[in-house]
Amino acid sequence: MTQMMGESPIIVADGATDTRLNLVGLDQDELGAVLAPHGIEGFRLRQLWQWIYYRGATDFDQMTSLAKTVRATLADHFVVGRPEISTHQQSTDGTQKWLLRFPDGKEVESVHIPETDRGTLCVSSQVGCTLTCKFCHTGTQRWVRNVDAPEIVGQVMLARDAFGEWPAPDHDRALTNIVLMGMGEPLYNYDNVAKAMRIVMDGDGLGMSKRRITLSTAGVVPMIEQVGAELGVNLAISLHAVRDELRDELVPINRKYPLADLMQACRDYPGLSNARRITFEYVMLKGVNDSLADAKAMVELLKGIPAKINLIPFNPWPGSVFECSSNNAIRRFADYLSEENMSAPIRHARGQDIMAACGQLKSASEKLRASARRAAEAEVASA
Ligand code: SAH
Repeated sequence: MTQMMGESPIIVADGATDTRLNLVGLDQDELGAVLAPHGIEGFRLRQLWQWIYYRGATDFDQMTSLAKTVRATLADHFVVGRPEISTHQQSTDGTQKWLLRFPDGKEVESVHIPETDRGTLCVSSQVGCTLTCKFCHTGTQRWVRNVDAPEIVGQVMLARDAFGEWPAPDHDRALTNIVLMGMGEPLYNYDNVAKAMRIVMDGDGLGMSKRRITLSTAGVVPMIEQVGAELGVNLAISLHAVRDELRDELVPINRKYPLADLMQACRDYPGLSNARRITFEYVMLKGVNDSLADAKAMVELLKGIPAKINLIPFNPWPGSVFECSSNNAIRRFADYLSEENMSAPIRHARGQDIMAACGQLKSASEKLRASARRAAEAEVASA
């Protein structure tokens, strides 16, 4: 736990190091262990949990059901922190993106996508990524480190802050769904992701239903069963190719866990039914994976698996070698799938103007800052 304490995201107004422990991201047992020496146990512990995760209190003085002296002691030792917001952008379509900076200077992005019937927060699980998928901008960056549980929970709490949803209203919430589809591979950081999701799902706190959480993986086959058995959240698979030869190239983890193994893990996913389908994400790449033959092969591959297919028009990024399939090709692909009774909505890009769409995260912000730095340097040089 010592290590975890050291990594907790603590906001300090003056930028100085604050040695107080951040309570956000501790599970109930851990919270009990650190608070017991201060006389907070049982019912009081539950109250504190609710102040943090149900009411969103960030100041112990707001926790009026606790005695004043207790609040003062807590403030001496602890904080209820949030990740620091480095930049915040809003797209013309209402999508918002936050670049968050953790105390060690590492950064990730979270994106909120408003839709008529829901509002989805896309959460990052790693700083950078190890997977090197050829069409993904995040994949061109090296992996830096895992995002820890407090930092994952912090992303959700920041969104609740942004919408003032403490406690969350019964109707018309801005934040209804969470997708683990930001930067990184959540199943290469399972312990932190699982711990964070348990906190997020706790009915006395943030209260997000497992039915409204989706974990997306490029196919870490040995971990898939555990996700269903332990967390029971929805599963999404980044498929992108239906033949091993091509998938080996596009999604290199396929060389380790080929399609047959991946499909078997999908068939075995606990809790799967027609009402609870696996989402297969498929980025449409011109002349690469968008032929009618690919659509046919997909139908064969997914036979017997309760599936939804998300066709994602490729979002380009500077230096990418791919192009997005034509509208006609995407339509033809989608039509074929629906003729075969497969649900295959085309996912329209959101937040492209702020580089918040699938596969565009993080690099752009790095790039922007680099160019801002260059501009500043040029200014200094010419002065
Ligand atoms: N590593 C996990 C979580 C990331 S999810 C996974 O691969 O599932 C991010 C989704 O965006 C994945 O489906 C990814 O394949 C997709 N994606 C990546 N780059 C993209 C791009 N340029 N255009 C459209 N979708 C992209």
